[in-house]
Amino acid sequence: MTDSLLSVRDLKKHYPITEGPLRKEVGRVRAVDGVSFEVERGETVGLVGESGCGKSTVATTLMGLEEPTAGRVSFDGVAADRRDSVDRREFRRRVGMVFQDPTSSFDPRMTIGESVAEPLSIHGLDDRARRREIVADLLERVGLSAEDAERYPHQFSGGQKQRAALARALVLNPDLLVADEPVSALDVSVQAGILSLLDDLQREFDLGILLISHDMSVVREICDRVAVMYLGEIVETGPTEEVLADPQHPYTRALVSSVPAPDPSQRASEARLSGDVPSPSDPPSGCRFHTRCPEIIQPEGYDFDQANWRAVMDLRVALGDSEDGDFEGELVDGEVRAGGIRDRFGIPDELGDEGAEAVLSEALDSLASGDSESARDLLGREFETVCERDSPELRETESGHPAACHLHDERAE
Ligand code: ADP
Ligand code: MG
Repeated sequence: MTDSLLSVRDLKKHYPITEGPLRKEVGRVRAVDGVSFEVERGETVGLVGESGCGKSTVATTLMGLEEPTAGRVSFDGVAADRRDSVDRREFRRRVGMVFQDPTSSFDPRMTIGESVAEPLSIHGLDDRARRREIVADLLERVGLSAEDAERYPHQFSGGQKQRAALARALVLNPDLLVADEPVSALDVSVQAGILSLLDDLQREFDLGILLISHDMSVVREICDRVAVMYLGEIVETGPTEEVLADPQHPYTRALVSSVPAPDPSQRASEARLSGDVPSPSDPPSGCRFHTRCPEIIQPEGYDFDQANWRAVMDLRVALGDSEDGDFEGELVDGEVRAGGIRDRFGIPDELGDEGAEAVLSEALDSLASGDSESARDLLGREFETVCERDSPELRETESGHPAACHLHDERAE
């Protein structure tokens, strides 16, 4: 086996939450929680997930801008050792980076040419004429002109600035480019131009690219492979075409269905994601997606309509998040009764399964009378699903690429 250009193994980045004058650790923000992937030479890999899933933290830790909590990053077969300054310098030379916001990545007092040339001076190219030449050449390659070197950032549009940012990231002739949301700040009309430029540069320089985006349609445009990230973990990975055509994780399905299909009649209607990514300081148990998953597995012995089951789980999630007292404060104040709770969570008057209905009614009665603890316990005991109990492993599915979802464990058994 040949060494990958970039190999990331079990990368973790936890931010301690501290309290008091002694800064005692009282918890951790698990921004990245055991992520592994590779980028091969000349390959474009997409890292996709909603905002808050940990994508940027993957980028900053793998770049060595932040110290990882655990895990290993190797570049070209060599473990990246951030403590060694020679090593660090070499890594910086061979890995270029582009950020989302092109404005803050340029010093407004420097010309674009000076900014693009800066890494060359830092890395010891003292010949001014040669630097000029390299910068002029690169500016043209990214679709600007040699004369643009004399202009200042404020004279550039967002798209032009992002082109200049690409020129700067490529000026040391790196092998890998890490691009964190490189088109998210740009108008849709400008995005396509930058993406096709990335694609061209990738071919021309035989670059490996790690493209980070919250937008599946951006990934679809230029990535050979994709890794889908949810709450600090990779939940599915595979060749982009395959993952888009046949997504194996409900989270991926939701991301894919939010991409407008070229043909409106083929547009997936369901699987909209509701709510936000939960806080990584207290990630949900079991499968981290279970608090939002539209395909959450039902408890044994009951037969729910899937939408009703999701609604009951939403109630359980809300109960679990509530501090003692605040749930009934919100709901039982004055007029709110069991029926009001059903309405609020979209639970119908009859669940359609007698046994399940009996359990729910009892729990709602407890809730309505202010005893949220009994309600929580009863629902937790009777309606526990594998999704909240066990953390699914990322493993091969019938589709040929891996996903981490209990739906596949069931099929495999
Ligand atoms: P993404 O790029 O996918 O939007 P980020 O990597 O920026 O996600 O953030 C992941 C999670 O880590 C978020 O919940 C964010 O609030 C948290 N986070 C990021 N940086 C820090 C930090 N320095 N301290 C504490 N939490 C952080
Ligand atoms: Mg980000």
